[in-house]
Amino acid sequence: MDQLLEIRKKVVEKGIELLSTNLTVGTWGNISCRVPGEDYIAITPSGMNYDILVPEDIVILDLGGYIVSGTRKPSIEVPLHLSIYRSRKDVGAIVHTHSPYATAIAVARKEIPGAVEDLVQIVGGNVRVNEYALPGTEQLGINTIKAMEGRNAVLLANHGMLGAGRNLEEAFRVCQVVEKSAQLTLLAQLIGGVVELSQNDINGMRNFYLQGYGQD
Ligand code: 13P
Ligand code: ZN
Repeated sequence: MDQLLEIRKKVVEKGIELLSTNLTVGTWGNISCRVPGEDYIAITPSGMNYDILVPEDIVILDLGGYIVSGTRKPSIEVPLHLSIYRSRKDVGAIVHTHSPYATAIAVARKEIPGAVEDLVQIVGGNVRVNEYALPGTEQLGINTIKAMEGRNAVLLANHGMLGAGRNLEEAFRVCQVVEKSAQLTLLAQLIGGVVELSQNDINGMRNFYLQGYGQD
């Protein structure tokens, strides 16, 4: 199958999953991934319902932001996604959500501590909150890559969260784990607060994950 068509289909599928797993409501949030072997990314169109998207709605851009293929207006967060792809060679896909628990912590401008195995394995430690910038701006990209250093996720102040991964599956899983961690952080605060893991244990669990957690 045509490579671009294949990628576009995967992005459409993840959009449906974003809705069905309650990671976002309405048309908010956005999804992108690199096109293997090219300096291109595929990204969701701006302000369209995920459940009506067809592969042709997904826009293909080069890393300078120029449209290579597609007729839709791309997500307003193109500058945010591109700033991450330009500075993080390890990132192959990005999912941005407005999920409720992560956003609750983001509006409080607090971090999600590194306190559970799944989070520190897949994200690499705590999830920091960036310095606030308006949606759709270059400044949002600058503030986000700074807060995301050494991590696969970040909270966007007064906005939502963003998960990155080597591929779409992983970026999506990052968002699910961050949302779950945000929820348990808030619950733990009701009964006395969170006990963070040691940096040594966090490093050990991250390495274990990177060295091939799961089946070969
Ligand atoms: P788009 O619909 O343009 O992707 O914008 C949604 C959003 O979440 C902006 O931050
Ligand atoms: Zn957003």
